[in-house]
Amino acid sequence: MSKTVLITAGPTREYFDRVRFISNASSGQQGKYLAEEFSRRGWRVIVVAGVGIEPLRRQNVLWRRVTSARQMLATVKKYRNKAALIIGAAAVSDYRPVRTFWGKIKSNKKKLILVLKPNPDILKIVSRGPEPRPMLIGFALETGDYQRQLRSARKKLAAKNLDMIILNPLRSMENKNTILTIVRSDGLIKKLSLMSKRRAARYLTNEILRYYQQLN
Ligand code: C5P
Repeated sequence: MSKTVLITAGPTREYFDRVRFISNASSGQQGKYLAEEFSRRGWRVIVVAGVGIEPLRRQNVLWRRVTSARQMLATVKKYRNKAALIIGAAAVSDYRPVRTFWGKIKSNKKKLILVLKPNPDILKIVSRGPEPRPMLIGFALETGDYQRQLRSARKKLAAKNLDMIILNPLRSMENKNTILTIVRSDGLIKKLSLMSKRRAARYLTNEILRYYQQLN
């Protein structure tokens, strides 16, 4: 029987009234290309996608659309035990408004203070669930010099109990091309050259599957 990969993709939205929200800039393309690549290779793919990405219509792809980080968490939890691999490619909103107003806040206010609180960390939570634990892969968008970015990615790998984290630079945002660095839990670091996100998905899938076979 074919194996299942669960991929989160795109931005979540956190509404503070009926029409306004905070979110992240994210096209969701990297996650979608990864889904396409795994699907081509015969895996069953579950995509838990934030707002604004055109679904991938393929026979072995189940597309679940969510809005907020908490909805994304609930959906990921639901499918967690079916997945051999979970790839967190979503740009999850790290914070959400403490209060959501029912209607639309009037636009005549001199000042509007938004109070935010942290959202649950989806990857961290699913890493702590029952055994067998799926292999977990995260993404880290970092700023600053490269060594600092690497340190921060490594910290996230450890804090979220991940098997692999993919460092992507700020300039890959809203860009067709990207320069990724793969950081594995066994310490291996591999910096890829500049390539399109589609090609990067192919490359990453090879690297993920190689490590998956090594760990299983
Ligand atoms: O936002 P942060 O840099 O911590 O994101 C790193 C990784 O963790 C990404 O793979 C992202 O999809 C995931 N994440 C998550 N739940 C959050 C925040 C981030 O799963 N609340």
